[in-house]
Amino acid sequence: MNSSRHFDFIIAGAGAAGLSLIWNFLSADELKEKSILLADRVLKPVRDKTWCFWDDKQHKFGDLIFHSWESLEVRALGAIFSEKLNDYRYHCVKSDDYAEKILEIARKSPNVTLLETDIQEFGYEDGRAVMRSSEGLFTAGHIFQSALRPPGFQKLKLDVSLLQHFTGWHIHTNEPVFDPAKATFMDFDVPQGNGVTFVYVLPFNRHEALVEYTLFSEELITDEEYEIGLKNYIDERLGLSSGQYAITYTEKGVIPMEDRRYPAQYCRRVWNVGTMGGLTKPSTGYTFTRIQQHSAEITRALVQGAQPSSRAMSPYRFRVYDMMLLYNLHRHPDTSIRIFHDLFLKNRFDRILQFLEEKTRFHQELKIMSSVPWLPFFRAIYKMKHRIFTGA
Ligand SMILES: Cc1cc2nc3c(=O)[nH]c(=O)nc-3n(C[C@H](O)[C@H](O)[C@H](O)COP(=O)(O)OP(=O)(O)OC[C@H]3O[C@@H](n4cnc5c(N)ncnc54)[C@H](O)[C@@H]3O)c2cc1C
Repeated sequence: MNSSRHFDFIIAGAGAAGLSLIWNFLSADELKEKSILLADRVLKPVRDKTWCFWDDKQHKFGDLIFHSWESLEVRALGAIFSEKLNDYRYHCVKSDDYAEKILEIARKSPNVTLLETDIQEFGYEDGRAVMRSSEGLFTAGHIFQSALRPPGFQKLKLDVSLLQHFTGWHIHTNEPVFDPAKATFMDFDVPQGNGVTFVYVLPFNRHEALVEYTLFSEELITDEEYEIGLKNYIDERLGLSSGQYAITYTEKGVIPMEDRRYPAQYCRRVWNVGTMGGLTKPSTGYTFTRIQQHSAEITRALVQGAQPSSRAMSPYRFRVYDMMLLYNLHRHPDTSIRIFHDLFLKNRFDRILQFLEEKTRFHQELKIMSSVPWLPFFRAIYKMKHRIFTGA
């Protein structure tokens, strides 16, 4: 390791956010001379996440895309909505491919130092950002951290806190049963009971798919319950008994879905990024695209010699929409499925994705709102008025 313990930048945490950030830094000519420390417990590729997101056909991920789908399907209340996308493609990237590519670029960069360490704390001393770790103390002009919860996290205003939790099986089937051009985005026609429950299916070829059993609820369920949910789905929806497929990989995850406003900074000169920066969209759990946007924004600011921005990721009106949907997902799961049903019944998939990506205009949002039951949203406004009318 570089013997210096001071760097221009420390990137603390090398998951989706930390790696995206270093990739952006190393792509910016203006930052080529900056010394960077990349720190994580483990700095090697691990296959533990499959990140899905939508983007146009000219996405910037090149050969990192493991698979893309041009059509999506949603099932709710007995109806099937299936559509070919015009403006978008639904893509997925495997976490090990992403880490392998970006870590290799980092290793080849003379200005980057990699450090495997247990990060313990951040602080600000004598005009410098400080990282304390099992390998000792390191300082920097700025630290970007995705490893630790910001101080005071538990005291932040919070009305709805749900978990999106799931177990997925990557299965290989004996017979060719999948259509690799079409992903099941959400299938709500599964037994409900522990919270809003759905399955999504990502087929990679005729024989292979990732099938994920997902819930939005306050409590996790047992491993056995996920397993039963997956087995029943594969049996009943895909028509495959246990002898007709093999499980080649299991993915588990928990993503926070909450209306807490995460602070932009941990302390002076230490910036929160990724999930710790509150980049997870509260009503959907999607984070990957927002991480990429945030990294690009931070890089642009540093290139211009400016401070990274402290503004919230989402504009006010989208925070309000998120709060209203989150409230319904929490308090009225049955109504939420009706909302999804009407949303996909009355709007094009491209428009819904554009809305979820927060790229719609207000008049388009009014049209979307008028396509779903109003009462639950008025009720949510009433129940959440103390938040909505104080800046959300
Ligand atoms: C299984 C799974 C699937 C997901 N799928 C999607 C998806 O399809 N689409 C989407 O948009 N979002 C998805 N998400 C949500 C989100 O995109 C991911 O959680 C994403 O990885 C968040 O990035 P991050 O950098 O904030 O956190 P992480 O990727 O978890 O990175 C944090 C890093 O910090 C390191 N670290 C933590 N604590 C310490 C410490 N004390 N010392 C040293 N290192 C430490 C960890 O080792 C890790 O490498 C998924 C989440 C999970 C869990």
